[in-house]
Amino acid sequence: MTTLLNIDANAKTVKGQKLGFMTAILYLLPWKHGGVNLCPMAEIAGCAASCLNTAGRGGIAKRGAIIATDGGSIPDNTIQRARQARTKLFNENRNLFLSKLLTELDAFIAQAKRKGLVPVVRLNGTSDIQWERVRINKTTPNIFALYPDLQFYDYTKIAKRFNRKLPDNYHLTLSYSEASKRYAASCLKARADHNVSMVVVVRNLEAKARYSMEAEITGANVVDGDAHDLRFLDPANSVVVLKAKGSASKDTSGFVID
Ligand code: SF4
Repeated sequence: MTTLLNIDANAKTVKGQKLGFMTAILYLLPWKHGGVNLCPMAEIAGCAASCLNTAGRGGIAKRGAIIATDGGSIPDNTIQRARQARTKLFNENRNLFLSKLLTELDAFIAQAKRKGLVPVVRLNGTSDIQWERVRINKTTPNIFALYPDLQFYDYTKIAKRFNRKLPDNYHLTLSYSEASKRYAASCLKARADHNVSMVVVVRNLEAKARYSMEAEITGANVVDGDAHDLRFLDPANSVVVLKAKGSASKDTSGFVID
């Protein structure tokens, strides 16, 4: 069985090491690709086709081979097959999945400490699960309660998650999209109601400069989302501007802003 957590395996989390943090990320199959929809807002937010799931090596397959899924198809490569195996375990044997996750988290925390780094964790690398509602057992309401000193963070497209109090050690950044007016309005409302930070994915460097300047004019605290991935360091109510990667650079749904 493949490991669940990837540790400092992408360029952005490696940047976090320079700031003293070590990042573990859980990558599952997004949207309906694993048979159960792990991204309930992906359709309305228009992000399923532009998901980072197929960025980098995850998007490359020999002779363009694909695996047919309930969400359409994914490239047939070892990265997607590992995500498929993890997702199957999450959906079909939750107890085994959680016990494996806890074992790997314990080892990751020890590894980070040996290196003198602060361990931080993203459980939704390529999914949008409401982890605060995933019970560990009858007495433990979620994984955050088991690790009160461990910082978790994620991006989300589920604005209603901000309506409930989140665990103190779980930082969420809302992900904006203009794929539908209803979704865009729900993001702006959550931002106004709960002072949350919001990430905006823009087409290219020109759009990034323009959008950043426009946001600054409105008085927003603008953060360069490409500098590192440690969103829990951002001031509350920030606008995080991120350049599109992989298939997202060709997005026409409204998820990527021009
Ligand atoms: S919600 Fe996030 S993980 Fe899910 S399809 Fe959209 S971008 Fe990908």
